[in-house]
Amino acid sequence: MTAHPALAWLDDTAAARRAAGLHRDPVVRTPGSTVVDLASNDYLGLTRHPEVLAGATAALRRWGAGATGSRLVTGTTAEHELLERELADFVGADSGLVFSSGYAANLGAVAALGGKDALIVSDAGGHASLVDACRLSRSRIVVTPHNDVDAVVHALATRTEARALVLTDSVFSTDGDLAPLRALHRVCRAHGALLLVDEAHGVGVRGAGGRGLVHEVGLAGEPDVVVTATLSKSLASQGGAVLADGRVREHLVDTARTFIFDTGLAPAAVGAARGALKVLRTEPARAAAVLEQAAHLARLTGVEAPLSAVVSVILGDPHVAADAAARCRDRGVHVGCFRPPSVPAGTSRLRLTARANLTDDERALVDEVLTDVLAGARA
Ligand code: PMP
Repeated sequence: MTAHPALAWLDDTAAARRAAGLHRDPVVRTPGSTVVDLASNDYLGLTRHPEVLAGATAALRRWGAGATGSRLVTGTTAEHELLERELADFVGADSGLVFSSGYAANLGAVAALGGKDALIVSDAGGHASLVDACRLSRSRIVVTPHNDVDAVVHALATRTEARALVLTDSVFSTDGDLAPLRALHRVCRAHGALLLVDEAHGVGVRGAGGRGLVHEVGLAGEPDVVVTATLSKSLASQGGAVLADGRVREHLVDTARTFIFDTGLAPAAVGAARGALKVLRTEPARAAAVLEQAAHLARLTGVEAPLSAVVSVILGDPHVAADAAARCRDRGVHVGCFRPPSVPAGTSRLRLTARANLTDDERALVDEVLTDVLAGARA
């Protein structure tokens, strides 16, 4: 590489990341690869399900490859509206609004529901998209310690702003633990605040037949609860959604910048998500199968029983975690490796995600490889 004065800082920062074990290379999947997947978010194993592929193909043929424009111009097909209705019905919400990703749904919803006259209270363990959303909102932000309901009470009770919005993931993406949703909702109700819950890792896994943690704890359809979701994990597609009271939907249609200025979700992604929802309705046992598989992975790796599809095996040092992940991959098992800044310093880890559809042979390989590799990594 030729030296260039304007790029020298990139050489310096890249060298620092490499020395700290924090350089990342995308893992490239190649045709014919037989690696067992314990890293993706395709928890229910639906990404190649015939119903999902048929939904994607039919929508692609009917509407074309791209949405052709933003949602308010040409990017809304009848299929987008059907998906919004079906998603809302599935989780028990009043209405739905589809975005081009879960990230865009969070940015759009939080920025549109926040604002200078609103306080936003955000859990310290929240997803990066919620953190970025806070920055976009121009609200005053209070970050509360992870799952600390008393800190939320304090922030709401001492605010000067008329409005308030409390943000949390339902299932936290790196540790796989759950938010105290009922307690948070009680507090929000008492203090006139909206509760926004990111169900990216909850839908498909928690709740009856995968209807999510909000549904499981009895908060579905509450007008002061706003759910955001992704179509890219259990729903095996791509895209995001806000599932909420109709008044929230109307406000977002009129004001959410990632809804108004972003091209609509591609029709094939819409059709695929509708196909996945159909499978979830007809095969509700898939959600429980994910949790059973997660419990098995936790026993195997000696970590606490998981409450979601995410099993986090903390190894501490980023070099050790990266080396263990590479050893697993060399032996045919793809596991996630999370290092700072995705997780706090000193907590680099293997992040295993359970899958509802592993074969017996795949399970046997996973058992053998994880047992060996972790014995080495922990020695
Ligand atoms: N929220 C959470 C908790 C997530 O884990 C993710 C995906 N990593 C997102 C939002 C973003 O969703 P998407 O990938 O659809 O943009």
